[in-house]
Amino acid sequence: MENTRSASLFENAKKVIPGGVNSPVRACRSVGCDPVFITGASGAKLTDADGKEYVDFVGSWGPMILGHSHPEIVKAVQDAAAQGTSFGAPTPTEIELAQMVVEAVPSIEKVRFVNSGTEATMSAVRLARGYTGKKMVVKFDGCYHGHADSFLVKAGSGVITLGIPGSPGVPDDIVKNTLSIPYNDCETLEKTLRDPALDIACVIVEPVAGNMGCVPPKKEFLEDLRRLTGELGIVLIFDEVITGFRLSYGGAQKYYGITPDMTCLGKIVGGGLPVGAYGGKKEIMDCIAPDGPVYQAGTLSGNPLAMAAGIATLKLLQAPGFYEQLEEKAAEYAGRLADISASTGIAVTLNRVGSIMTGFFTENEVVDFESAMTADTNRYGLHYRQMLSKGIYMAPSQFEVAFISAAQSGDDLEKAIKMTEWSFKKML
Ligand code: PLP
Repeated sequence: MENTRSASLFENAKKVIPGGVNSPVRACRSVGCDPVFITGASGAKLTDADGKEYVDFVGSWGPMILGHSHPEIVKAVQDAAAQGTSFGAPTPTEIELAQMVVEAVPSIEKVRFVNSGTEATMSAVRLARGYTGKKMVVKFDGCYHGHADSFLVKAGSGVITLGIPGSPGVPDDIVKNTLSIPYNDCETLEKTLRDPALDIACVIVEPVAGNMGCVPPKKEFLEDLRRLTGELGIVLIFDEVITGFRLSYGGAQKYYGITPDMTCLGKIVGGGLPVGAYGGKKEIMDCIAPDGPVYQAGTLSGNPLAMAAGIATLKLLQAPGFYEQLEEKAAEYAGRLADISASTGIAVTLNRVGSIMTGFFTENEVVDFESAMTADTNRYGLHYRQMLSKGIYMAPSQFEVAFISAAQSGDDLEKAIKMTEWSFKKML
């Protein structure tokens, strides 16, 4: 048996961890198999408990834009650890990372570090409500902003993957203050934002949706969002947990030239350690305690190991041509995948922005949650299992993105292309 050790680890895990996993999509249920257990990773490769190697297209769900175990990041973390792992007090490294974030991200004048993307979005929304004195949060169907109560309304990521509309345990009283409307639908957007009965504090959006698979924004969608929220005094929050430092060094807002009022970060900014961040205009950020009345805190926030990993990562991302090279590599790879779809006749709609992409098994254009849902998830499951068997590690859900990293070599991508062709032909 190929995955003997992973299979026995999974049995053990299920006895002490719900579903055997610490985050639901990892259980691989929607792709019809059990997970492999990872014991190590280097560059673009993961190694599982049975010693099998995989080319990684998940990148820990986004942070590993430079690949795994990058020597400079590992050294930065080791050096930081040698000085102490947590102080619960201000440190010089938090200033250094904050300065780098403020310089990089157009909307951020001040930033607070937290420990996850969920904490970042949850805190940003609390702040937007505190700042405006209003209640309602507008989000978009299929976007995922972490698992805080107010976001579990028509959410993407694992919530779509498991086919649930929201979550038991989230009281109606909370959900009634969240309104979810279709992504990329400018008409509904304008009608909703102009509704005087709604008392809207903020709109939160993934500027490129990544959690219903990759769904790029229509140009006028982001423009309308900025124009309308500005006009109506609604706080516009870009959730750049995936896109921050991914689409460009300044994130999606720099990529599209649209500056929100607040931004949430996670993943890459922590270099693979648990970090989130939220920031924005000084006037808004100064409403947080201790300067202002809006409360938010954290025992491990600004953790020195995490700050060191973030600083080392951002320094490496400043290398001239980094994003151009990643774009070129991703474009070439996506083009080859599209060719395979055309030559085999297996219908795939390939959406890509920079180094994130999704091949949806559908003939339809995918522009929102409804069209994403037309993808054939059984076919994705089969493709996933076939690719895994050949050493290609993809996201275990049709509704996630593939991440291209700087560590993937021409040979790694060539292998993935060959295996894709083999897998598609096997499905005919
Ligand atoms: N926002 C977006 C856009 C995400 O993709 C995610 C996680 O994937 C989150 C927020 C939540 O981040 P975390 O899983 O670190 O809590």
